[in-house]
Amino acid sequence: MVEVFASARFRAMELITILNRCHRFRGFVYHHDRFTTDNKSIEISVRPRKGSAAICSRCHQPAPGYDQLPERRFEFIPLWGFFVFLLYAMRRVDCRRCGAVVVEEVPWADGKRTLTKAYMLFLARWARRLSWKETAQAFRTSWEKVFDAVEHVVTWGLEHRTLGQIDAIGVDEIQYAKGHKYLTLVYHIDIGVTRLLWVGKERTIESFQGFFTAMGQQVISNIAFICSDMWEPYLKLIREKCSEALHILDRFHIVAKMNKALDEVRADETRRMKHEGRAPVLRKSRWLLLRRSDHLRDEQHFRLRDLLRYNLKTVRAYLLKEAFQQLWDYNSPIWAGKFLDEWCRQTMRSRIEPMKKIAHSLRQHRELILNYFRAQKLISSGVVEGLNNKAKVTMGKSYGFRTYRVLELALYHSLGKLPEPESTHDFF
Ligand SMILES: [Zn+2]
Repeated sequence: MVEVFASARFRAMELITILNRCHRFRGFVYHHDRFTTDNKSIEISVRPRKGSAAICSRCHQPAPGYDQLPERRFEFIPLWGFFVFLLYAMRRVDCRRCGAVVVEEVPWADGKRTLTKAYMLFLARWARRLSWKETAQAFRTSWEKVFDAVEHVVTWGLEHRTLGQIDAIGVDEIQYAKGHKYLTLVYHIDIGVTRLLWVGKERTIESFQGFFTAMGQQVISNIAFICSDMWEPYLKLIREKCSEALHILDRFHIVAKMNKALDEVRADETRRMKHEGRAPVLRKSRWLLLRRSDHLRDEQHFRLRDLLRYNLKTVRAYLLKEAFQQLWDYNSPIWAGKFLDEWCRQTMRSRIEPMKKIAHSLRQHRELILNYFRAQKLISSGVVEGLNNKAKVTMGKSYGFRTYRVLELALYHSLGKLPEPESTHDFF
């Protein structure tokens, strides 16, 4: 009998010893631990250390006690298949500084959230590697708690990040909710530290305005290069806010636009040929035409060569697109400009409407395109392209509910390179 009692005491002491080693806070002591009646969870009661004053959660200063609220459960990192909870009855203080009765602040928790900070950081780290749903499943918790964890970590990160000197930014948009809605993403482009700076709802002037407000005049006035696509609200605001910066039209977006136009020509012509009962020579040509010719395999080369013998609008549009690639080989803005003008002149005479539209748009934005060469090709929009692809993967992983808030958090979490809250211990 005595032995059983002793070993039970020994176990109890060990768990608290470990907690004191990894999750210890001044002013509080781990008092007692026990299994819940269903044997699924371990509960550890926490008490204020004798004589230590509670901290007011509003002014973060010690204040005299007022009363104590009912015990709350704070979820800690699970251990060996058991849920672990810290039990603590929050004190309220009568804070003279704040002139109010306020709930105390405890170092292991964040406001009303039910998870401990340590557990939130733990879950949030996993939520960067797995989808939120998978994270919830792996740790037998709910999607909402994973959301809470990421929200806590991202909020802390945004409050504590340093913006520093930002020389170059890239502005991009991304579609979500089955393509019906847009997000505006602003990246900080820098060697080695390209990161997501800002996420905005929609892609309007008003939403993009939010970026300039969030960054502040000091940061904005130092920006020397801005890379964006041809979306008019972006262009307008950039002209207004960063008149000193060199504004570069994004190479990646120009190529994407051109591919879209070519695809339109192809689809249209395929339909027409079918309607007229002609041989389906354009069948399965889509990727052949959209991929860069130097990325094609041998047999695709043969097929392409075969296709190019036909006198089709699609073929002519393809040749125009391929010819345009040469632009990026220029180093001098003057020669690049001459090439661009000549290409636009030819294309305007092509009688292929989607391509003419592109040429028209390129003419309108001639100076911004040439800025790419004026910036000596230093600003590679490929970085932004890469991040944008990552952003799309992130969106897929956070799914669950495709609300704006979820996406915003997920994007900051995986691409923002945000600092993480300090932890008493590295819980892996
Ligand atoms: Zn106070």
